[in-house]
Amino acid sequence: MATKKMILDLDTGIDDAMAIAYAVGAPDVDLIGIIGSYGNVLVEQGGKNALKILELLGAIDVPVYLGNGHSSTTDHFDVMPISAQIHGKNGIGEVELPEAKRQLETTSGVDFLIDAAKQYGKDLILVPTGPMTNLAEALEKAPEIADEIGNVTFMGGALTVEGNVTPYTEANINQDPEAANAVLTSPLKSTMVGLDVTLRTLLTRKETQQWRDLNTKAGTAFADIVDYYIDAYEVTNGQLPGCALHDPLAVGVSLDPSFITTLNLNMKVTTDEGTRGRTIGDQARLNDPETNVTVGINVDADRYLKTFMSYLTGLFVKH
Ligand code: CA
Repeated sequence: MATKKMILDLDTGIDDAMAIAYAVGAPDVDLIGIIGSYGNVLVEQGGKNALKILELLGAIDVPVYLGNGHSSTTDHFDVMPISAQIHGKNGIGEVELPEAKRQLETTSGVDFLIDAAKQYGKDLILVPTGPMTNLAEALEKAPEIADEIGNVTFMGGALTVEGNVTPYTEANINQDPEAANAVLTSPLKSTMVGLDVTLRTLLTRKETQQWRDLNTKAGTAFADIVDYYIDAYEVTNGQLPGCALHDPLAVGVSLDPSFITTLNLNMKVTTDEGTRGRTIGDQARLNDPETNVTVGINVDADRYLKTFMSYLTGLFVKH
């Protein structure tokens, strides 16, 4: 069997940085590229952060492309103050990593995704862990890729729990509800790793201390970056005994779907004022026997965390 190829579409971001490390550290997948998105940071900053994280991890052959810099319904994007609070103004917990030696690619991230879908088809895994703007644009430009990409597992949404921006909406979906609705109501089959499962998959200082104890560049940097995130979680989510592994859980589920139990559902994203950004069953397609979204509703957090620590620690010990 051909090795699985993975593309991450993310707004690097602290949990995005952990998602990159999971993808680089996982033994059974080849990370063929990263698409930078706006969200936790501006798009250029996210792309540069991805390059720095890759270099820190010795993954200097993974190209980083830039996607859209703002949502499909606006022409401008400002980072929300809460994002800067959780991820730091630079997106990586105010930790200063060396400037990456490599440059961002000049091809657009959306075109890279379309080309990769053509080239790798069913062997391609796409994991969007930021806004859905790039994926929605790719589907609009090349609708046939909906049937070509083997696996799309995204971090976003909330079905059985409240949102984290408003009681209805989760942060990634909130950035571009129209794009998310276009994706979820398209023929594309996807798996949703939302707050339903990510808020039950937590990391604590016990684990970051294990990275710190490695005394390597990557171990220390990741301990510093993620401790910033844990500090922020204590302020914003004091009821949780740790920080949520949002983005790296999506990467984990894309490689091993048995980490979650799921519900099959045709979904939509509401774009009306009031409940804007809600991920919910689509009334119009509720009785279709064919469903296109597999929603994670529970998670084997213990087994996931063991795998997460084994991949990340295994990588940090070498760098
Ligand atoms: Ca993210």
